[in-house]
Amino acid sequence: AGWSVCFRRNFITSPSRLQSCMSAWVIDQYGTNGVLKFAEEITVPTVNSPSEVMIKVHAASLNPLDISMRGGYGAKFLKLRRDPMSVMDNNNDSEFPLILGRDVSGVVVDCGSEVTHFVPGDEVWAAVPPWKQGSLAEFVTLTEYEVSQKPKLLSHTEAASIPYVANTALSALVNAGGLCRDSSSNKRVLITGGSGGVGTFSIQLLKAWGAHVTVTCSQNAEGLIRGLGADEVVDYTAEDAHEQLGMMEKFDVILDSVGGETEHWAMGLLKPWSGAKYVTLVTPLLFNTDSMGLLGGMFQTGYTLHSKATQNIVSSGVFYRWGFYAPDGPALDEVSKLMDAGKILPVVEAQFPFTQVPQAFQKLEQGHARGKTVVRVA
Ligand code: NDP
Repeated sequence: AGWSVCFRRNFITSPSRLQSCMSAWVIDQYGTNGVLKFAEEITVPTVNSPSEVMIKVHAASLNPLDISMRGGYGAKFLKLRRDPMSVMDNNNDSEFPLILGRDVSGVVVDCGSEVTHFVPGDEVWAAVPPWKQGSLAEFVTLTEYEVSQKPKLLSHTEAASIPYVANTALSALVNAGGLCRDSSSNKRVLITGGSGGVGTFSIQLLKAWGAHVTVTCSQNAEGLIRGLGADEVVDYTAEDAHEQLGMMEKFDVILDSVGGETEHWAMGLLKPWSGAKYVTLVTPLLFNTDSMGLLGGMFQTGYTLHSKATQNIVSSGVFYRWGFYAPDGPALDEVSKLMDAGKILPVVEAQFPFTQVPQAFQKLEQGHARGKTVVRVA
């Protein structure tokens, strides 16, 4: 079902009566930054199932996915996740008005009858799945399992910089990379693209877990990356960057957040025949379903993954895997503890007020992120 626009204003009259309309940045079509529109009459996403939690958004942050989704990336796949019946109708635009924004830090305002871990007034954080309405809005509603208590020592602005990259890094490193808190000490991990959102979080998580961390980044990010605890830093723009990496002791896990040609030169940096894993976050799944349709795209994606995985295990005994964001509130609970213990720090590069969401998109689109871009909503 599409998201209806609210034509009636009905503001809060008592704590139990929530307003029915809210402000949000929406898109009604895919395109460049001009499609972002500020709307004041969007229906508030109220609690509709017993396990849902409604959150008043205090801060949101942007991810490269927001730029891609604004342009229509993943539209076919995500539309199917939102509304399985839409697969019958190629022309419907039921996803509009679509709200982008994947991270939220805010306060619980309402809970379904079966919610056990949260009550109104709790300060929480979460990563909003891309198939749900996003956090560039006054309110967002999620299932309890996707939400977590916000770290106490962080402001909402700081907290909003973490959930999406944390859920992505944990899913990639744990599920695909086979690492965890108790198995990482003395493991050698290479992170490519270390200066962005995923990289700055992953470096700190892996150091907290006791791993040895090598990072590739631009020369001018080296100070930031070393400050986050990286053991070795290689400037990927240096002519001899691959030679420098090749001379190092081989790695147990590579987390690749750059993609492209990386897998061609990086696979040989892994320890052969010892369970080493190459995990890339840059996968063709959504590109394929956009360009070939759902069935063709999924078939092609499965075939590509199977052939790359087989080729690498047969030729060099290393596992080739894809990493994906996965919503996971309990995983954020663990991150929360590390942040309150000061073991992981937020890296907020830029902040924008809610009135300047298009400027925040512009900033992200320029690339060269050094941590995260956050939007203060409340
Ligand atoms: P960011 O935009 O925050 O960071 C990217 C970083 O990579 C920048 O700091 C950039 O800085 C650096 N960089 C660019 N080129 C290279 C290179 N060749 N070698 C080393 N560093 C480089 O992105 P995120 O960290 O949020 O995400 C990283 C990637 O992971 C994106 O492609 C994103 O789409 C993907 N992703 C995938 C997910 C999934 O579910 N599969 C989930 C989340 C993210 P500079 O250019 O100055 O060097």
